[in-house]
Amino acid sequence: MSDLLDTLRDIVGVAHVLTRNDPGANPSTHLQAWEQDWRKRSQGRALAVVRPARTEEVAAVVRACAAAGAGIVPQGGNTGLVVGSVPDDSGTQVVLSLGRLNRIRAMDGANLTVTVEAGCVLQTLQEAAEQAGWLFPLSLAAEGSCTIGGNLATNAGGTQVLRYGNARDLCLGLEVVTAQGEVWQGLSGLRKDNTGYDLRDLFVGSEGTLGIITAATLKLYPRPAAQLAAWAAVPSLQAAVQLLGLAHRHLGAGLTGFEVMGQFALSLVAKHFVQQRVPFLTEAPFGVLLEHSDSESEGHARAQLERLLETAFEQGHVSDAVVAESLQQARALWHIRESIPLAQAEEGLNIKHDISIPVSLIPQFCEQTDALLQREIPGVRLVNFGHLGDGNLHYNVQAPEGSDSVTFLRDMEHAVNALVFDQVRHFNGSISAEHGIGSLKVKTLPRYKDPVALGMMHAIKRALDPQGVLNPGRVLLA
Ligand code: FAD
Repeated sequence: MSDLLDTLRDIVGVAHVLTRNDPGANPSTHLQAWEQDWRKRSQGRALAVVRPARTEEVAAVVRACAAAGAGIVPQGGNTGLVVGSVPDDSGTQVVLSLGRLNRIRAMDGANLTVTVEAGCVLQTLQEAAEQAGWLFPLSLAAEGSCTIGGNLATNAGGTQVLRYGNARDLCLGLEVVTAQGEVWQGLSGLRKDNTGYDLRDLFVGSEGTLGIITAATLKLYPRPAAQLAAWAAVPSLQAAVQLLGLAHRHLGAGLTGFEVMGQFALSLVAKHFVQQRVPFLTEAPFGVLLEHSDSESEGHARAQLERLLETAFEQGHVSDAVVAESLQQARALWHIRESIPLAQAEEGLNIKHDISIPVSLIPQFCEQTDALLQREIPGVRLVNFGHLGDGNLHYNVQAPEGSDSVTFLRDMEHAVNALVFDQVRHFNGSISAEHGIGSLKVKTLPRYKDPVALGMMHAIKRALDPQGVLNPGRVLLA
């Protein structure tokens, strides 16, 4: 393996191959930022971290690793939540960090596209688009750290999927280094191209197991003239679904966000972040955060939103509501929503789920699954919140009050997952709506994926990466 390290140093330069034996480095912490996952569920051990700055360097690194039989773990911002971007503990895998491959190569206002390298941080791209007068709409709480390559490799969703779609829907073309170290130049800005199989869609969402994304051509949108947020107290999940239907009818494509939050999830924000004021906390079992984007004016947007909420109130879907008066107030409302994951972490470890269910079936799913969980684990607490507009719930299960969360996670995770995922299957849902499979759900996937689909996935993996060098043990077991 020392031959491989020498070759890697020749390719990217000595300064960009990091190992735990680097002179003057503390071996136990030197590579930690690349070896430990965001949720601190896994501490891997890399042979090296390699940081190429150009596509040709990525290709050469892949060829060198493949020749040496070393597994390659592509990594962007390392914010993934399913332990897909960190090495295993064998000490043989090479972390291929894309952080230095971060240029915005071109912006084409007439074509409404931007071509950007994989290591560009999402927020940097959002800001560059804004400066040029456009909107790049992908938005998620990790946007200050996550990268475009990681967003595409995980097909990230976020808060505006309802209007603009997932990362997949924003992507027109890709540049990819294959497992053989070839470069596929697919950086097309075309919206129409029916010349055979859609290779781009194979790589989007493949979590680094089929190829290394080095650049992408992405869609830009006009910036809305106004963006307003409102908070509604709703008496039930069924009422939230009715409100969503009404919002679709009243706001059309202007509906850019629709988040639902259970009372317990909101009470954790109020408990752990006392400076935040949660509207209508004690008045209703659910809160809904709506976002409305309008191409005309703020006055027009406000009138539409108020009309929607009045109608919803008259029909009994909403018991109270408030429309943010300023950008600052709107940000404060979004801040409550974004604080839920942090508040639940303050409360203790919990069993997280990132599921999707057809929107119309969500109330029934929650009613049944809540009851089953309460029967199995009396007193269990449900931190239920999510992007209701996309049918995506973070249906998280917290230990009963007063019990030890570490013990709960250790003893109950398997059984709780089985119960929740069986219910997801029963309701024709997905066990992963956003975060992907990584290594965390790799053993679970075969139980819930259609066997024919799974067979085709294995065939694709064998065809594109027969040696199994790209992100081994992620998404599919060998
Ligand atoms: P990494 O974590 O580095 O990698 C993720 C996966 O992609 C790994 O399998 C890795 O091997 C692969 N990969 C990375 N770069 C490349 C590349 N260039 N080529 C091939 N494979 C690559 N996700 C959502 O969908 N919606 C959300 O709302 C959301 N909110 C989040 C909020 C927080 C606070 C956090 C921490 C995470 C959140 N996520 C969310 C998870 C989400 O997957 C990541 O934030 C993001 O998309 C991953 O980007 P990254 O650059 O950090 O990728």
